[in-house]
Amino acid sequence: MPFLDDALLARIHDRAPGYDRENAFFAEDLDELRAAGYLTALVPESFGGAGLTLAQVVREQARLAAAAPATALAIGMHLIWTGVAKALLDRGDDSLAFVLREAAEGELFAFAISEPANDLMLFGSTTDAAPLPDGSYAFTGTKIFTSLSPAWTRLGTLGLDATSVDAPKLVHAVIARETPGAASTRISSLGDWNTLGMRATQSHTTRLDGAVADAARVYRRLDPGPSADPLIFGIFANFEILVAAVYAGIGDRALALGVDAAASRTSARTGLSRDQDPDVRHRLADAALAMDALWPQIDTLARDVDERVDHGTHWFRRLVGVKVNATRTARLVVDQAIAVAGGASFSREHELSRLYRDVLAGGFHPSNDDSARATIATDLLGPLLPPRVDSHD
Ligand SMILES: Cc1cc2nc3c(=O)[nH]c(=O)nc-3n(C[C@H](O)[C@H](O)[C@H](O)COP(=O)(O)OP(=O)(O)OC[C@H]3O[C@@H](n4cnc5c(N)ncnc54)[C@H](O)[C@@H]3O)c2cc1C
Repeated sequence: MPFLDDALLARIHDRAPGYDRENAFFAEDLDELRAAGYLTALVPESFGGAGLTLAQVVREQARLAAAAPATALAIGMHLIWTGVAKALLDRGDDSLAFVLREAAEGELFAFAISEPANDLMLFGSTTDAAPLPDGSYAFTGTKIFTSLSPAWTRLGTLGLDATSVDAPKLVHAVIARETPGAASTRISSLGDWNTLGMRATQSHTTRLDGAVADAARVYRRLDPGPSADPLIFGIFANFEILVAAVYAGIGDRALALGVDAAASRTSARTGLSRDQDPDVRHRLADAALAMDALWPQIDTLARDVDERVDHGTHWFRRLVGVKVNATRTARLVVDQAIAVAGGASFSREHELSRLYRDVLAGGFHPSNDDSARATIATDLLGPLLPPRVDSHD
């Protein structure tokens, strides 16, 4: 039995073209999803949440993305934090239990990790995290692509403490925005999101100028660089799998639109509907072949996280793999559906033209294709060695 009902998804689907056209935040979708309890999907029932598993939520996210990709991607950022908190709790670590409690109380968590020109992602930060005497931290820096900018009330972020006696340390913390939308001198949202696709995410640049995370919401101090801390696994696993689910949903929707287009167009040459054209049949069969291989990969990995399966160091290869496979597959399926639908899909009013723009965003999320290949090659072949200097030089 699905969590999000079809009537709600139909309303969300109807609003998507308007948000895209107006470059507007999905405010009405958010209200309805909140009322449906979706913001607590991954919050355990013992915390007052809906108590879904990650395996269940990936299917809901794909249905939501099929209705409105940008809404699903942005809500996914909140789901990632609640998923991280749940994964840690399932493994006996309650350091993020406050996230589950606050999500159950209605707080909305944004994911403020990306920084300009910082491809270290979780392993380094250009944001300064200055320790304060009471154990809180003041963050100063720039975060880019902060989805949910108009509405978040909690900002999950990362900065570098360069001054404590044990520095340098990467500080993971949550900053509260007590009055959503209110002007703040310490946190500013630049309102600069004007993109080709995924427009309703409203992922503006966020400036932090001494924004304080209370001591109770500072939950990790880690050495810079790769870390075996379960937090890093939790973020990586939830991020890659939930992002994969969004793009799988785009693929599902594009395939359905391709099938509809094949059945509804007729060839003047043969007098037959296009679904009798062997080329059209091959294109849609190729698209379905790719989708049918993707879904078991997503379902299995989500279930493995839920069931605490130990893939050891191979986890990272699998996680980057599922994200890259999903974003590549979705793009391929959208391409095939557009070829089948023909010139009509070139219209700005056609849903496939929006999916075409939205699906392009998939390649930018970490891990992008190049860094995923590097992770997989390291898993297969070991790390790259520094170049050897010949002894006779
Ligand atoms: C639709 C969408 C939603 C996203 N949502 C989130 C989110 O909620 N949270 C999150 O943490 N990440 C989010 N991301 C960010 C994503 O994860 C990547 O970090 C992002 O796409 C940057 O990718 P890049 O390194 O290829 O881009 P870059 O090439 O680094 O460009 C990204 C931005 O940084 C600027 N920039 C690049 N170099 C410099 C420089 N030297 N000085 C100043 N500015 C510079 C660019 O002008 C550009 O605006 C989202 C991405 C997309 C596409």
